[in-house]
Amino acid sequence: MFTWPEPNKSFVSATTSSETIDKAWYFLVKGSEIAVNLDAQERWQPFTEMDVARFSAAEQGRHFLGSMGDIACFAIEVNDSPGLSFSALRMVLGKFDHLMAGLVGRAVQVCNWFHNHQFCGKCGAKTIIHKQDRAMLCRECGIASYPRLSPSIIVLVHRGEEVLLARNHRFPDGVYSTLAGFVEPGESIEQTLVREVGEEVGVNVKNLEYLGSQPWPFPDSLMLGFHAEYDSGDIVLQEEEIADAQWFRCDNLPAIPGKKAISRWLIDDYLHKLGIAVSP
Ligand SMILES: [Zn+2]
Repeated sequence: MFTWPEPNKSFVSATTSSETIDKAWYFLVKGSEIAVNLDAQERWQPFTEMDVARFSAAEQGRHFLGSMGDIACFAIEVNDSPGLSFSALRMVLGKFDHLMAGLVGRAVQVCNWFHNHQFCGKCGAKTIIHKQDRAMLCRECGIASYPRLSPSIIVLVHRGEEVLLARNHRFPDGVYSTLAGFVEPGESIEQTLVREVGEEVGVNVKNLEYLGSQPWPFPDSLMLGFHAEYDSGDIVLQEEEIADAQWFRCDNLPAIPGKKAISRWLIDDYLHKLGIAVSP
């Protein structure tokens, strides 16, 4: 079957752990970097209790994320420490399966949220951790600050056997992808999609089809993936953002993002609908 991963039902999110913990996974975070821990086969794995004890001097604080069955999952904020090496989340996220990518992204986002909300944004008073919720609470004015999520749309625009792909100025050479953009206050997701496609490449779309979502923790996005049918208009680039955009025949695509990205899945799913073989 050709489906985006099902929600992971075995992970249960929570903010406080039980008193006794038998097994635990630890994700060590420094800024937007994650500490690397490889097993004998060079595969990334979470740190264990024993590992964490070795780096206790570097620990700045810990956050319970929730449980995977009987495994308690924690994010730990750390400083540099001899024996710890870090990778930027962006460099390693694609190497994880969806379960681990979700946990690692969650760990980095929770640590960053905590770090960035030590003081109230309204009155400047020191905040405290909310007793039940994942929130930082101001006792002076009562404002609670939750981890920020920034929803965005990501869309494959199609026209029969062609798809519209674009290059952002930041993309690696030759790589084309689907269009994306952030939701603005007051907008529905559908309005965002139509506006962003219009702004970035100048075309009008119709028949929007929602297919799935992907957390994108750079730093706090949630991407909502769509297919949309071309309606009218010629390509006109938003030049500050888009270096190039073209219609590509589905049997002759340029370089596109890797398999772990929702953009790739949106493309592969469309090829699949047309009966075109998708590379594994
Ligand atoms: Zn306040």
